[in-house]
Amino acid sequence: MKHLLFILSALCPLLSASGAPPNIVIIYADDLGYGDLGCYGHPTIRTPNIDRMAAEGMRFTQFYSAAEVCTPSRAALLTGRYPIRNGMCHDQFRVLRRVSTGGLPHEEVTLAELLKEKGYTTGIVGKWHLGVWSNDPKHHPMQHGFDVHFGLPHSNDMDPSADNPKLANALADQKAEYWNAPLYRGMELVEKQADQTTLTRRYTEEAVKFITTNKARPFFLYFPHTFPHTPLFASKDFKGRSPRGLYGDVVEELDWSVGRVLDTLRETGLAENTVVFFSSDNGPWLLMGETGGSAGLLREGKGSTWEGGMRVPGIAWWPGKIQSWSVCQDVACTMDLFTTFAKLGGAQVPQDREIDGKDITPLLLGSGKVERDVFCYYRGQQLYAARLGPWKAHFITRSSYGPDKPVAHEVPELYNVDEDPSEARNVADKNPEVIAQIKASVEKHRASVKEAPSQLVGSMEAR
Ligand code: MG
Repeated sequence: MKHLLFILSALCPLLSASGAPPNIVIIYADDLGYGDLGCYGHPTIRTPNIDRMAAEGMRFTQFYSAAEVCTPSRAALLTGRYPIRNGMCHDQFRVLRRVSTGGLPHEEVTLAELLKEKGYTTGIVGKWHLGVWSNDPKHHPMQHGFDVHFGLPHSNDMDPSADNPKLANALADQKAEYWNAPLYRGMELVEKQADQTTLTRRYTEEAVKFITTNKARPFFLYFPHTFPHTPLFASKDFKGRSPRGLYGDVVEELDWSVGRVLDTLRETGLAENTVVFFSSDNGPWLLMGETGGSAGLLREGKGSTWEGGMRVPGIAWWPGKIQSWSVCQDVACTMDLFTTFAKLGGAQVPQDREIDGKDITPLLLGSGKVERDVFCYYRGQQLYAARLGPWKAHFITRSSYGPDKPVAHEVPELYNVDEDPSEARNVADKNPEVIAQIKASVEKHRASVKEAPSQLVGSMEAR
């Protein structure tokens, strides 16, 4: 038997000694910037648990969300596809609102559905933002492959209460009673006005319960946090502790949460058979001033297709499989997690449609490179920029939330983002052949896109 196990593990390095496929956990922060963690260089926000996760695993330096705002980035993560393919983006509305009746189309196949078919127990704890089920029950995550659910339907700023004076003031004052963030367990409304100061703690308790309850079988836990999306709330154990102010308090509580998840995996003996990935859905919301985060040395933030809008922290952890202290400088993105984790779970990605995510197992295991053509930066339904190797061309530029109009460039702006991650030096003049190459790759990509009607239309409410 021992010999058989040895042969099996030699043949299938991705299976555990028991032959079981790995558990999969995705922890997804909301609006956390590239520069907001200790291990990504923040000078005063203390994130010892996430730093330890990176030290025990792999830290990506060029990891991307597939969109610049919440709804499309989540759709891309769970389907492995650019949101332009499934209607989960819109130039004007940008994200689903509280009153939206649209949502992730059921023709789409989610990672939860793929893994569930392979015998995984699937759970989501946190913010969904792919359809508001109180407007249409078919948008509930349990209709998209999740067995267990606890969390909010949308962002925590989308349902101002009657007490809310004016949005701008409310964002500045950050009083819990200004918001009606409805907290659900499955279809059951737990609190119409969730106490947001306890959300991170309660999410974490649910995540820990999910892991311990399902420790005997393969599980997939999708853990999209509500924070550090503004308005910010930290529990009394964290509030007022960080030199970075309330934003730092909130990130430090998220760090505590990551520590609790990893400790639970260690304590239950599951660490070596669980792959955990930590990332963020888009860059920091710079518009929010001190209650928004930082993109570090990257240009701009959430809402833009400059690097700060879409390059985010990406940390993989799988003791015994991923080399500790490893740093990956290759381009990778959230859509890759769909393809990679489907494969690790023994599932085949859908063959009847374009899947944009790549299998990055060779990067994770340090066993090889991954071939990649262009990475495209969409803002809503428009392709604004594209990256090929170290080069990034901007065909259209616009600030993230400013009143400025989009500027289409006849000659795109060109940056070598390996050399110039801050996108400070436009080198288009000197590299016409690079621009021609990127344009050819973009045309190939465009030819593969059959744009789906936007599901975000009709979201006319301001927030
Ligand atoms: Mg976000």
